[in-house]
Amino acid sequence: KALRAVRASGGTAVSELLMRWAGRDQVRRAAVSSPAARELVARYVAGEHLDDLVPVLHSLVDKGLLVSVEYLGRPVTTLGDAEANQTGYLELVVRLTAEGLAKGAEISVRLGLLGQELGMHGEEFALQAARRITRMANNAGALVTLDMSGSESVDLTLDTWVQLNQDLPSIGATVQAALHRTERDLANLAMPGGRIRLCKGAFREPRTVAFRNRHEVDLAFVRGLRILMKSQAVPLVATHDPRLIAIAEELVRRSGRAPDSYEFQMLYGVRPLELRRLVDIGHVARSYVPYGPGWYEYYLRGFVERPDNLALFMRSLLGKR
Ligand code: FAD
Repeated sequence: KALRAVRASGGTAVSELLMRWAGRDQVRRAAVSSPAARELVARYVAGEHLDDLVPVLHSLVDKGLLVSVEYLGRPVTTLGDAEANQTGYLELVVRLTAEGLAKGAEISVRLGLLGQELGMHGEEFALQAARRITRMANNAGALVTLDMSGSESVDLTLDTWVQLNQDLPSIGATVQAALHRTERDLANLAMPGGRIRLCKGAFREPRTVAFRNRHEVDLAFVRGLRILMKSQAVPLVATHDPRLIAIAEELVRRSGRAPDSYEFQMLYGVRPLELRRLVDIGHVARSYVPYGPGWYEYYLRGFVERPDNLALFMRSLLGKR
């Protein structure tokens, strides 16, 4: 009954209630020790430790894909937490280098995990930590792209990007088509060689700042794509939506872009065959692979967009497939 209610509510009140349930310590413990729940999560998350991540990356690279790694750190309430997450990112770079996986890899950095939301000291720490991670990644031949969180963090994230971009021009930024401001932001961000990731946006935002209707978001995505494809920036097309992928392919064809001047990016475990198809026809495609101690919270966040996944998760905890 609860699962039917979640579907009918389209991911609103009931699913929020169930998310709170899934976020409880007891449920977390049950999920961590349930083989069925872990198997389900493993479709989308490479695991908790570097040892879990490395074989996943090797298997993707062997298939001709590039990889982007999202380190899922612990939630941040103190500068100590942010420091621990910085260590997580740096250890990631060291391990990628040791495994021969660093060259061409991308590391997706979430400034919130580095303390960006902890006030002035946190902002400064996040800026310096992102600089350290990016320098170390660049020395190893890897790239860094900043992820984007909710609309209230966009100014700060783009300011940080501008500051880092002055001495580390390969650093990428993410923009969300759903936000009204994004077209304006793109006009400033789409600089020659700048890596700009365009996604729809994963956060539930107020109507005052964002399009809420799917069709409007799709149209905004296409407008963003056009700006990027016309510019000399490197568009990172981050979507699984077949129609938007087809439009991006057509815009690439019309612009006559070389294959190394744009990328398709998709989340690990979502439409993997489509990502392979893109590689097979000559595009550069990258799988975005999350791993780390915050895997459970990441999986929970995904329920906001996809209540069906919550239903599957509950079934797995109840021992039903
Ligand atoms: P949708 O219309 O949502 O999905 C199209 C189809 O793809 C669906 O019908 C479904 O079949 C499949 N699908 C999509 N997502 C999933 C899923 N999670 N599980 C199962 N099936 C799925 N958002 C941010 O706000 N900030 C970021 O920094 C950010 N970085 C991203 C980086 C990458 C590489 C990607 C691919 C996405 C990122 N996102 C980010 C998420 C993005 O904003 C969307 O929420 C997400 O990609 C779903 O939108 P879509 O374009 O695939 O279209």
